[in-house]
Amino acid sequence: MGQDHFAVFTDMESVEDKLHNIFEDIKVANEGKTLPVHVGIYSMAFEDVTASSACDRAKIVSDKEKGAYVSKFAYYDENTHAAATHFEYVINNFEKAMAEGWIRPYYQQLIRSVNGLVCDEEALARWIDPVRGLIPPDHFIYVLEDAKLIHKLDLFILECVLRDLEDVRDKDYPIVPVSINLSKYDFELCDIVEEIAKRVKASTIPTNFITIEITESVSSLDSDFVATQIRRFHEAGFQVWMDDFGSGYSSLNILQKFDFDLIKFDMKFMREFDLSKKNHVIIRELIQMATKLGLDTVAEGVETIEQVKFLREVGCSKLQGFYFAKPIPLDEWYAIYGAKVGNKIENYEENDYYAAVSRTNMVEPLVNKDYTWKANEFFGQLPTGILEVSGKDIYIMRYNRTMADFLLRVNYIDEVDLGHELIKQKQTPIEELIQVLNSCSTYNKWEIIENIVIDKLNMNLFIRKISTNPVTGNEAFELVIVSIND
Ligand code: C2E
Ligand code: CA
Ligand code: CA
Repeated sequence: MGQDHFAVFTDMESVEDKLHNIFEDIKVANEGKTLPVHVGIYSMAFEDVTASSACDRAKIVSDKEKGAYVSKFAYYDENTHAAATHFEYVINNFEKAMAEGWIRPYYQQLIRSVNGLVCDEEALARWIDPVRGLIPPDHFIYVLEDAKLIHKLDLFILECVLRDLEDVRDKDYPIVPVSINLSKYDFELCDIVEEIAKRVKASTIPTNFITIEITESVSSLDSDFVATQIRRFHEAGFQVWMDDFGSGYSSLNILQKFDFDLIKFDMKFMREFDLSKKNHVIIRELIQMATKLGLDTVAEGVETIEQVKFLREVGCSKLQGFYFAKPIPLDEWYAIYGAKVGNKIENYEENDYYAAVSRTNMVEPLVNKDYTWKANEFFGQLPTGILEVSGKDIYIMRYNRTMADFLLRVNYIDEVDLGHELIKQKQTPIEELIQVLNSCSTYNKWEIIENIVIDKLNMNLFIRKISTNPVTGNEAFELVIVSIND
């Protein structure tokens, strides 16, 4: 047939015995230095087709065993047939499906941990077929990758997203950045950076409203090449996110090699969340590492309130999953938004403020190392929190475990509050604390506050101003309790 491919026309009687004999002979041929033989069998009893179709079908079966280290044979059967028919259907109808709008993006909202608002959306491709019904991406993406057509899908989804964003904005509804998924093959099939930049430029949507998601499978491409493409995306004004972190093998390596803005933890972390406490340690440390590297984090597949509580406490920046929202088409979002139900949308102007709050490392707060306190110092994790001052009110935006314990003990919050965004404290805010906070006027400079009395406890604190919300005028402060004095 070509290269090392052969076709054999034979009768079915004792075909398996014959093959076993060949496999044995091959083993000892060429002094044993031979490769395995992979055989696909097409029986005319399955369906009477032309010789060339029969050969094609036999080849489909033999290709399935490509990676196997031992000689094998398999038959073309109903399963193979269904898969092959599906494969053909996808390829033959792909152009039409785009033209007719059978393929379109669904949108899933991402929630910012510290405020519970929608800060991003992810575009996920759906093929709603008039004959076959809803075809999920898992059923057509691998086909398009195999047929070297995947870049056409990804650029088509981008065009749909741009049109949808324009439509939402023209209706005077709020818009948030939308991320699109790229396949590693996109980088081989076209100049994907150029193609994306060109389309965004031709639209009326600013570049920072489109985010690029790349899976860690790109690590199988040349790393200098990938690093260059990421740099080009950055130069063109796009954020680049690493998708499915932890699903493959080269995860840590990839963070060192490539310059991502955010990492998305693969859904498997949430799926295994309840299985053992070890998983909690792993997630906590990974988020900690990402934060130290200056990267934002998203946990995918968040489905329960326990997961939400945990992720907020360990400082995961954004949350995505069925707990908050499922992927839905734009029409459905319009209906939800029009009815004033559903998740509230963040004002994009507040993005930098909330991003600064999210990025603060509270597991190991970076307080002045050389300052020593006289009295009872905390050992281990210092109670650290982020407070938002809004006029005479103080909200708790973030807290670590020791801060949560402290706040519960002094009765400022209830157990049920944990896991919720922007906790309002139960007691009237202490005037003195508000004054102290307001006196911290320089950004990012640690102030030392000695002997402040909160709820009869005399404390020493470190406080720094993180950021001001340009829309509301609210200010966020990081507060570390360094010691509680006798
Ligand atoms: P992904 O990028 O990891 O997308 C997240 C997938 O998880 C989506 O599946 C989403 O519907 C699902 N999901 C979200 N929240 C939850 C949850 O709480 N629980 C569970 N069990 N699942 C959740 P979907 O839409 O079927 O997409 C599957 C994959 O197909 C995507 O995984 C992505 O890799 C790929 N894909 C989707 N659209 C495109 C596209 O336009 N281009 C390319 N190249 N790939 C795409
Ligand atoms: Ca994705
Ligand atoms: Ca993912």
